[in-house]
Amino acid sequence: MTPDPGAAETMSDISSNALSDDVIAVQRGPTPTRSKAVYRAFGATLRSLRTTLARTLEKPTTIQYPEQKTPVYPRFRGRHKLHRFEESGLEKCVGCSLCVAACPAECIRVVAAENTPEHQVSAGERYAAVYEINMSRCIFCGYCELACPFDAITMGNDYELSDYTRSDLIFTKEMLLAEPIERTPLRREGE
Ligand code: SF4
Ligand code: SF4
Repeated sequence: MTPDPGAAETMSDISSNALSDDVIAVQRGPTPTRSKAVYRAFGATLRSLRTTLARTLEKPTTIQYPEQKTPVYPRFRGRHKLHRFEESGLEKCVGCSLCVAACPAECIRVVAAENTPEHQVSAGERYAAVYEINMSRCIFCGYCELACPFDAITMGNDYELSDYTRSDLIFTKEMLLAEPIERTPLRREGE
């Protein structure tokens, strides 16, 4: 194949214009000699060996999950809890839906209903006939807890929420009101 004379000219033009105004020349250090390169590689190997040996003397940090669980800080935001008044047993949630409005993931569903003298569920005029949280969408931001004017919903410490189907991750009011199994240890002071 005959070389294209035009192409050859273009390449030489590029090399002659290599240092035009819009080209920034990269300043490189001097190429190390062979002995310097060997010395550097040897130094780097010694440093990495020192790091490895130092780690072998430390205690292992591996945690044998699920037999051992990582303790969480007291302010850790895990599984939600709905609360009742201790004395009366009435639900604290009045179905106002402020948590629904505050939830950025739109994963709370509340359907409110009126309390009646025969059927008093909460301490207010209304109660949450349906209260659901879709845990597969929740980002555990804690906005629902902050938005609730009655501390009816709080976030606990449990982070073990995995399940086999998405529908099982929709937590109903009954699940959220039930006493959760506290499986996650809290970090002690200074830990
Ligand atoms: S923690 Fe955040 S994302 Fe989860 S339900 Fe509450 S407001 Fe929604
Ligand atoms: S949990 Fe609180 S904010 Fe949400 S509906 Fe119930 S009372 Fe209102």
